[in-house]
This record gives sequence, structure tokens and C-alpha cells, in this order.
Amino acid sequence: MCRAFLIKYAEIGIKGKNRYLFENALVQQIKYALKKCDGQFSVRKTDGRIYAEAEGDFDYEDAVARLQKVFGISAICPMVYVEDEGFESLGRMVVDYVGRTYPDRNRTFKVAARRARKSYPLDSMEMNAELGGLILDAYPEMRVDVHNPEIVIHVEVRDRIYVYSAVIPGPGGMPVGTGGKAMLLLSGGIDSPVAGWMIAKRGVKIDAVYFHAPPYTSERAKQKVVDLAAKVAAYAGPVYLHVINFTEIQLYIYDKCPHDELTIIMRRYMMRIAEHIARETECLGLITGESIGQVASQTMQSLMATDEVCGLPVYRPLIGFDKMDIVDISEKIGTYETSIQPYEDCCTIFVAKHPVTKPNVSVIRRHEHNLDEKIDELVRKALADDEVIVVR
Ligand code: ATP
Ligand code: MG
Repeated sequence: MCRAFLIKYAEIGIKGKNRYLFENALVQQIKYALKKCDGQFSVRKTDGRIYAEAEGDFDYEDAVARLQKVFGISAICPMVYVEDEGFESLGRMVVDYVGRTYPDRNRTFKVAARRARKSYPLDSMEMNAELGGLILDAYPEMRVDVHNPEIVIHVEVRDRIYVYSAVIPGPGGMPVGTGGKAMLLLSGGIDSPVAGWMIAKRGVKIDAVYFHAPPYTSERAKQKVVDLAAKVAAYAGPVYLHVINFTEIQLYIYDKCPHDELTIIMRRYMMRIAEHIARETECLGLITGESIGQVASQTMQSLMATDEVCGLPVYRPLIGFDKMDIVDISEKIGTYETSIQPYEDCCTIFVAKHPVTKPNVSVIRRHEHNLDEKIDELVRKALADDEVIVVR
């Protein structure tokens, strides 16, 4: 029965002098993830490895699922361990482990022993040979292949003796919190949750802003965004979701500006507001789900026009992705089902039949002057009414 996990990490292993910061962050994230499953774990770092050891019974599937959402983990190895009661008892345990773990034994294998406790009477070569022999005696259908085995049975001698062999892939990436924080413009669509997930995967903590336009967008649409934030939070940790009431700003733009420029002007105001909140909350950039050419507001010219109003870097991790690739990721991370629920988002209601696809920035700027009378006040009001929801 699995009693512990050996957690492997790839990329953070190469960070030189900062390595320990990354390792500590990963340990924190693992603790946080495992705290939510029933069962107590002690998580510790020794010899460049991280172990999560169960202190009693726990739900194995749940623990693995949670670990698979911790960025920075490259692989999860479920381990069993025994107290050191002599080599004979270890041999019996290893044979039993192989029997239970691999019902289909017509396979090649090797034993990879590691003697972290140097006082152990056998060295690693001797252990490989002895344990390999015992496995062959018990299961003659298995064959040894030291170069390219199908199964590697790891045996680690420490205070206790640990045995593991299965390797479950982790999500990769960097531990959240090692890369600063960014503000995700989160809509109810397919793209923005994927964009947030991708940046979080690089170690960045995520806050989010959603522009809500009641009564044109329903409470259900808002709830959908909260649900999506929760899906991102399962990987990225707690997300502070800012809900901004955008209705009056939208109506005012609708009233004062050419309708074919409505979307682009609206997007410029979304960026301005998002940047304002981002700066107040120490975010180092904005994130959107845009990809070149996907819709009129995502042509190179439109992206230039939206970027122009923003002083912070705007990260668009999906910029070169096809919709199909984005859908694949959203299915993998579990946001797709929520994203395709049919609630209006605020853009779809006000879109023009023929929005400009090549906006001219100076024309846009000129038309924005139509808003001079009231827009600053409306923006101030929207910011003052910011509703912050902590989504875990
Ligand atoms: P998504 O699938 O992410 O909604 P989309 O293909 O529908 O994207 P747009 O509606 O043009 O594209 O939005 C582009 C980006 O602008 C979104 O990915 C998101 O980052 C941001 N955005 C759009 N609408 C909103 C909103 N109501 N609140 C917050 N951000 C938004
Ligand atoms: Mg959208």
C-alpha cells in the first residue's frame, strides 16, 4: 500500500544559487495542496528530493489528483516503505510488491538500489543483484534488462527502506509564487482561463478581473466566471477576483462613439481599469486570452490599439495558438465544460455587425474624446464599486 510520495522536479533543479527558494516554494505548494485532502502528510526536503509521507490513512486517488495540479512537479512516485528488519525481510517485501504492482509480469525489469545510509551491509550493486535474483526466482516470466527495462524497481535505503516503481507525470512548470503576480482579464470564454493557467504554470500568482454588465449579463454569467476562477485556483492557489460593473461605461461608449469602434474602445477601457487594479495590487503585468486574428478585436491593428493604453506588459500566452489547440488545453485542465455554458458575456451583447478590423489609433483616440465629459467619473465609480471575491 502506498504510504508516501517521492516528488520529482525538473526545471527548478537548474536554478543555481536560487535553487533552495524554488524548492521551498514547491514544498509550500505541496503542503497546501495536500492539506485539502483528508489525511495528514509530512512534507520534507532531503538530499535534493521532496518526500510527502502520509501519517495515517488517506485517499490515494485524491492525493495524486491534487499533486498533479502542483506546478513544478515533473513526476510523482508512489512509494511503500518498511522498517529495516534485515535483508531477508526486505527481499520478501520487494517480491510481494512486484507481485501486487504488476499483475502482468511478462515484462523486462531491473532493480535500481540506492544506499543513502552508508552503514547498510549491502552496497547498491549487491542489492541490485540479490533482489533481482529473488524477483526472478519468484516470477520466472520476468526478464532482466539493465539497459532498457520496461519496469524499474527503485529501492532506497534511508532510515527506513523505500520501494517505488510507478511514475505518474506531474504538470511541470514552476512553483506558483516564484514568479511574481499578474492580473488576468477573465471572461466566461474558453481562452482566458487557459491563458491564466499557462502563466500560472510559469510560477506566477494570479489575480483576476471580470467586467460584468448587469442586467445585460446575468448572475449566471458571473457565477460561471467564479467557477472558472475556481478551476484556475485549483492549480494556481487562491485567486482574488475583482468584479467590475461595466454597464454604465459600456452604455456611455455606445451612446457617444461609432458603433463599429465600440468593441475596441470598450477593450481599451477594460485594459485601463485592469491596469489600475493591477498596479494597486502589485501585479507585474496583465494577461489576456487573445490570439492573433481570432476575432476583429484581435487583429494586429486591434491588439496595437488595445496595447497603446496600457503601461504594464500584457501577456498573451495564446497569441500563436489555433482555437483547437486552446480547446485541447481547456479540456485537459477541466475548464472547457464550464466555458461552453451558454451565458452571455458583456462583449457579445454590444458587438456591432461589422466591427472595425483595422482600427486607426489616432481615429480611435479622437472618438474617445467624445467621452470626455463623464468617462473619468464613470471609471472612478466602477473602481470604487469593485467587488472582490476570494476564490479558492
Ligand atoms: P475568451 O474565450 O477568453 O472569452 P474571446 O475569444 O471571447 O476570449 P474576446 O471576447 O475578444 O475573446 O476577449 C479577448 C480577451 O479579453 C479575453 O481572452 C479576456 O482576457 C478579455 N476579456 C473579454 N471580455 C472580458 C470580460 N467581460 N471581463 C474580463 N476580461 C474580458
Ligand atoms: Mg469572450
